[in-house]
Amino acid sequence: MTDSFVSHFDVGLFDLDGVCYLGADPVVHAPESISEAVAGGMRQAYVTNNASRTPAAMAAQLSELGIPAAAENVISSSLVASQILAQRFAAGSKILVIGTDALRADVEAKGFTVVDSADDQPAAVILGFTPDMSWKLMSEAALAIRGGAVFVATNLDRTIPRERGLMIGNGSIAKAIENSTGVVPISAGKPEPEIFLQAAQMLGASRPFAVGDNLDTDIQGAVCAGIPVLHVLTGLATARDVCLAVPAQRPNYLADDLRCMLEPYPDLTWDGDTAVSGHARARWTGSEFELSSGTLTEPLDLDSYRVLASVAWKAVDSGVPWATVSQAIPELTVSRSVGDHAQQ
Ligand SMILES: [Mg+2]
Repeated sequence: MTDSFVSHFDVGLFDLDGVCYLGADPVVHAPESISEAVAGGMRQAYVTNNASRTPAAMAAQLSELGIPAAAENVISSSLVASQILAQRFAAGSKILVIGTDALRADVEAKGFTVVDSADDQPAAVILGFTPDMSWKLMSEAALAIRGGAVFVATNLDRTIPRERGLMIGNGSIAKAIENSTGVVPISAGKPEPEIFLQAAQMLGASRPFAVGDNLDTDIQGAVCAGIPVLHVLTGLATARDVCLAVPAQRPNYLADDLRCMLEPYPDLTWDGDTAVSGHARARWTGSEFELSSGTLTEPLDLDSYRVLASVAWKAVDSGVPWATVSQAIPELTVSRSVGDHAQQ
């Protein structure tokens, strides 16, 4: 792994859905790539907005998929939300928990007294995802917040993916409570930077990197935390989405999948207005993107994808309207089987 991407870092902070697994299945190349990186000395944390299951349960699921994990490797937004409470309130303070038993356990582990009623005058309300959400529970939270309790949400995800599609996420419930009380919640989950900073601190990381598939949570959160972040194409955001990303959501490193961690990451340089990486070159002509090999409608190799993204970002930053750039970039396919892999 000499001079591999991962050899430049000590800790990897991995998103779960779309990076490690997709529903019940492992993401292609994730188990062996993470295992090999860990065998080579990288330490790992799994950083997730999912606050409905315990770290032990999530670690067990990862282990079953062949991804090395123990409970202490899983940093959930409920853990971070509990930490936010611990920074504000003394042990023994009363906290109204709206969420699963896993969230309740995290709050109790910080020494707080969990209560179920606004009548107990809690110091804070902590809201996490639970499939048992009801008008009664939401109203209990609203009453406590109106009574002066601090409002903390484990995450503000608008949706939650389930087998049948996108269901109502914790952020949509939080929005209803905000709408009713006028109080904006403090959020522990991505895209807030806290979860990355806490994870890096808990592992004593000196050179952490993050990995994610979602631009407006994983990438934005890591960028905001100042942690270099690798994007993989195995989940939500497509290569086209990445090329059109706004500055706050641009990854530092682009990959197809986690195999890239174990390979050298080529430097990207500029030759005038032409981006150069490996054998690939790209530039904006003023009306279209020009690649040194192939066109945008053909499958791109990794180097071509990387130079194209850099040139697209630079075009927007230098004043080309986003809509113009968007029109110039079709849906992209990134594939390792194109380009000059003659050495293999
Ligand atoms: Mg994800």
